[in-house]
Amino acid sequence: MFNFDNSYARELEGFYVPWKGAEVPAPKMVRFNRALAQALKLDVDALDSDEGAAIFAGHMAPEGASPLAMAYAGHQFGGFSAQLGDGRALLLGEVIDADGVRRDIHLKGSGRTPFSRGGDGKAVIGPVLREYIIGEAMHALGVPTTRALAAVTTGEDIMRQNGLEPGAVLARVASSHLRVGTFQFFAARGEATKLRQLADYAIDRHYPELAGRPDRYLGLLGAVRDRQAGLIAKWMLFGFVHGVMNTDNMTISGETIDYGPCAFIDGYDPATVFSSIDHTGRYAYGNQPQIAQWNLARLAETLLDLINPDDSEDAVRRASDVINRFPLSYERAWLAGMRTKLGLIREEAGDMELATGLLAVLETQNADFTRVFRSLSSAASGDATASRALFSNPAGFEVWLAHWQARLEREDQPATDRIAAMNRANPVYIPRNHMVEAALASATKGDLKPFERLLEVLAEPFTERAGLEVYALGAPSDFGPYTTYCGT
Ligand code: AMP
Ligand code: MG
Repeated sequence: MFNFDNSYARELEGFYVPWKGAEVPAPKMVRFNRALAQALKLDVDALDSDEGAAIFAGHMAPEGASPLAMAYAGHQFGGFSAQLGDGRALLLGEVIDADGVRRDIHLKGSGRTPFSRGGDGKAVIGPVLREYIIGEAMHALGVPTTRALAAVTTGEDIMRQNGLEPGAVLARVASSHLRVGTFQFFAARGEATKLRQLADYAIDRHYPELAGRPDRYLGLLGAVRDRQAGLIAKWMLFGFVHGVMNTDNMTISGETIDYGPCAFIDGYDPATVFSSIDHTGRYAYGNQPQIAQWNLARLAETLLDLINPDDSEDAVRRASDVINRFPLSYERAWLAGMRTKLGLIREEAGDMELATGLLAVLETQNADFTRVFRSLSSAASGDATASRALFSNPAGFEVWLAHWQARLEREDQPATDRIAAMNRANPVYIPRNHMVEAALASATKGDLKPFERLLEVLAEPFTERAGLEVYALGAPSDFGPYTTYCGT
């Protein structure tokens, strides 16, 4: 059913604990991502079954799997924990997909492991389907991300904050589960040989162009910096708030991982925080670039001895140079994205000001980020009515509009091409918080239709379709401020 090739288990002994999923009473498939399974060259029909449900619940290991719990550490909200690890997750194994890319197949909610600490090792249906929706939406938006392969219920009831909830497991796919925290785990224990082994593994898997080079560890740091800069720029360009950017939730591959209290903004406000536990706003929307840089500095610390084993001052200087260039790398990616959102193909010195000027207007009015940008394609073709209507007082927007129109006149792209390009960068449909909540509430009661429908809508976020108007709107005013919870 799977053509496993388990490099992590094979090459990184001592970095994990071989482990099995917990047996559960009644595994049942809630959703199987057949298209993704196909792209992974899995036996789609054989897995879309009760046996598949048992496998994705962690109840039964398929042939060729080498399930294991990975060790990692991490800074959580700035405080270091030397031992976290997969407390409720298992790496089932790796497969090579149709594009030749190695992919982890990973279960979340499959029972206790040696890393569970006080936790029960379980997950419940709401957060599992939430990760399913958001991960697939991010993928469709073109944001590097883990993806949902299957969601199953286990037939168990699990105690959570609001009482008993149906137990569930998410099977997800990633280009790897190497985290900044994986490096921190071995650095904190002073395991130099293991760190080198891990860094070489990460290079081979994600940055093979660096393999064998004498400066490869510094190169790794720079490569992760640029991937993360590109990733966070995309988050910002789509209004995504991750919510728990702990170093254990930051990948070496540059994919988004661990959808917990994440959500998309409606009204534009850099101070937006959704997570109930983020009291200080450390992981607020507008802080994400700085936090990414902070996390990369933690990665840099783990690599110092590899960068220059003989001269620690030199290693610090080199690593600092790499990390200090994060803002530049980020800004480049962000501004390129903003140009596309604004219909610009030429580069001009005033473009940064133009982009931040619009954001400033959005902020004063708390205008809907996604809707305003989408409406700009009509404004670019001469009709700004829809854009104006998104501001309670459009005066500031009018001023900006005049600047933007003057700027557009200095472009020589045909209008139809410009509008098509803008519409490919500015989604109509994002996972609106009230829609996600409604879909999850129904699913928890056994009605999966709103969940399925939402997935369908979000699979094509840039294509406006008749009858889906309600999916393009922000939350109604009686929805109130939105608070999210970690998926424990
Ligand atoms: P997260 O907030 O999901 O990134 O998880 C942070 C750490 O807590 C990881 O080591 C998880 O494995 C662990 N964890 C989260 N929830 C549970 C749970 N229900 N049982 C055991 N460990 C958990
Ligand atoms: Mg995590």
